[in-house]
Amino acid sequence: MGLLNSIKKTMGGEAKPAPVATEKKVEATKEAKPVANKIKLGHVHLSGCTGCLVSVADNYLGLIKLLDDYADLVYCLTLADVRHIPEMDVALVEGSVCIQDKESVEEIKETRKKSKVVVALGSCASYGNITRFARGGQHNQPQHESYLPIGNLIDVDVYIPGCPPSPELIRNVAVMAYLLLQGNADQKALAGKYLKPLMALAKRGTTACFCDLMNDVINQGLCMGCGTCAASCPVRAITHEFGKPQGQRDLCIKCGSCYGACPRSFFNFDVIPEFEGISEIIAGAMK
Ligand code: SF4
Ligand code: SF4
Repeated sequence: MGLLNSIKKTMGGEAKPAPVATEKKVEATKEAKPVANKIKLGHVHLSGCTGCLVSVADNYLGLIKLLDDYADLVYCLTLADVRHIPEMDVALVEGSVCIQDKESVEEIKETRKKSKVVVALGSCASYGNITRFARGGQHNQPQHESYLPIGNLIDVDVYIPGCPPSPELIRNVAVMAYLLLQGNADQKALAGKYLKPLMALAKRGTTACFCDLMNDVINQGLCMGCGTCAASCPVRAITHEFGKPQGQRDLCIKCGSCYGACPRSFFNFDVIPEFEGISEIIAGAMK
């Protein structure tokens, strides 16, 4: 966790990171020698539908580029024949934890011990999503009744929300995580800015409610009326009236799902002015 702490310091904690000139950023990408310093990447599959892994794969040639130049896939039960969790730089965890299944509980704890950065990939890992409402009764495993988001059992560093998250978002986070771990000072600062809102989501965990969505997104003029929050609410506490979400607060169970699903909740004001430079960096990295 020492490295992660230094990353958090690089991000400046509460303080804003120093601005990075776009020219410098592009230069910095050209200087990078990714092949020599590949990071160890793992995919840990808990109780989920594998949709997030499919979204990773939907990067097509982009995924090949990532695995060629930036990351070695050292653990992935679906794609690699490795049975024991190895040391990893970045662990992408898909799915929630079934707390009646000792193996799953041990697996997530082991993942935390052996990973520098733990990423909750998708809404099941981040918020429990639909598994939060599973109540057992499945033919082969009727004892499996309760599922928790991984943040309820371990510290999580980054959330990538979505059901599933978009391939583009996963790719961007992968490139930025690489720069955070292996980049020069400018690259680290920029990656820190990009990841800051996703780290803030992880810090907030599942405590958000509709009022947070109202305060941080709708009242800031950021809502684009996409309806994702309403679709993600497990208790149908959100409806759409006149193109904008309306919450029934007495129904809200404060699960945080709408907040994490909203594409504007992790689009903060620190990142907006940097977005062009970030896009250039990512495009440069994927060439
Ligand atoms: Fe949002 Fe619905 Fe969860 Fe409340 S219950 S936090 S409105 S998703
Ligand atoms: Fe607005 Fe976010 Fe809900 Fe979309 S998900 S309607 S942007 S609050």
